Amino acid sequence: MTNERLVELAKEARENARVEISGFKVGAALLTKSGEVIKGSNIEDPSGIGVTNICAERCALVKALSEGFDEFEKIAVVGGADKLIFCAPCGACRQYLNSWCPDIKVVLPAEDGKIKEYSMSELLPYSFNETF
Ligand code: ZN
Repeated sequence: MTNERLVELAKEARENARVEISGFKVGAALLTKSGEVIKGSNIEDPSGIGVTNICAERCALVKALSEGFDEFEKIAVVGGADKLIFCAPCGACRQYLNSWCPDIKVVLPAEDGKIKEYSMSELLPYSFNETF
């Protein structure tokens, strides 16, 4: 699957974001090594407390893991309020992605539309990766 297509699927996922608090919608499309795409969007806690907000990347990854997928190729992420901006994963998502799939590529479109692919070691150098 091309990065362009994966970004389009992330844009579709973004439409399901539940962001009544911030209005900042994020979508993710996670490509498994067997070719399935699992979508995720950010889901905010409508109470506004904020501690239970879920990012699109972790939404997609948890959905995939809970459905039995455990090998991943790439994840595309798009986000923005009114218009899309460069939207790299937050620190929590970087750690989570690195813990579950350190070899995954993260596909991010820039504001000019150019799509780049990043490794986890680029996004999270000197990471904590002890496994128990
Ligand atoms: Zn995040």
